[in-house]
Amino acid sequence: MKYLGAHVSASGGVENAPVNANNIGARAFALFTKNQRQWFSNPLTKASIKQFRENCEKFDYQPFQILPHDSYLINLGHPEKEPLEKSRKSFLDEMQRCEQLGLDRLNFHPGSHLKQIGEEESLKIIAESINIVLDKTKGVTAVIENTAGQGSNLGYKFEHLSFIIEKVEDKSRVGVCIDTCHAYTSGYNLKTTDGFTETFRQFEKIIGLKYLRGMHINDSKKELATRVDRHENIGKGFLGEDVFMMLMNDVRFDNMPLILETPDESLWEEEIRRLYALVKKGTD
Ligand SMILES: [Zn+2]
Ligand SMILES: [Zn+2]
Repeated sequence: MKYLGAHVSASGGVENAPVNANNIGARAFALFTKNQRQWFSNPLTKASIKQFRENCEKFDYQPFQILPHDSYLINLGHPEKEPLEKSRKSFLDEMQRCEQLGLDRLNFHPGSHLKQIGEEESLKIIAESINIVLDKTKGVTAVIENTAGQGSNLGYKFEHLSFIIEKVEDKSRVGVCIDTCHAYTSGYNLKTTDGFTETFRQFEKIIGLKYLRGMHINDSKKELATRVDRHENIGKGFLGEDVFMMLMNDVRFDNMPLILETPDESLWEEEIRRLYALVKKGTD
């Protein structure tokens, strides 16, 4: 089964996210559990947690259909001590919020070396950050997202992700989320049949499909290997629609959250409907 949805608003409280998801016919959703532009927010209230759980039950969203995203400020590979400590503290808080909400995974961008240290050194710091936070939490998997490789962002190669995973002690609580736009602009030409096959053959060889915990379903405003992160609505960018048809008909992407992060959210309901319509009968 495919579980497709979008990164919906949680404004007014996390409990609104499942309602917003249900309103657009989503069978999965992503959310920020706090303001994504702040390091720290007020703790979740008991009432909010309770209502979130109730709404998830009401609209039939289980943890495996939900992919929370952390704050954009966090850099778990930061070369300097103080901002690294702040990032780790903030990430721990994000993981604990997921624990409170009964969620089983948290999606984040690996981090940036800021041109102050080498890639490998920064990747080691990221793995150490994950180990520290996993040690202090239970039941939530750290889900590393591939990036477009803009600026000094790491995670634009499958090798980066596997390097981190290799250094994480508890392999049962580390995973990966592949963003189709990021993959394309970082250089994986997944829009053709051959390119799609090759990209996921490499993914299996370098990382392993057993680590895949979710996908971000985005078209791209930028061309292959430009290393620029600009999402586009489905079928309107350089990726086109074929890649999404292949994805929707591939059992390797069953039973995990498939999340739209396309810029025009007024199109989400239609995008979800259109993508589900691409599923060929008998394959699902
Ligand atoms: Zn992301
Ligand atoms: Zn993404």
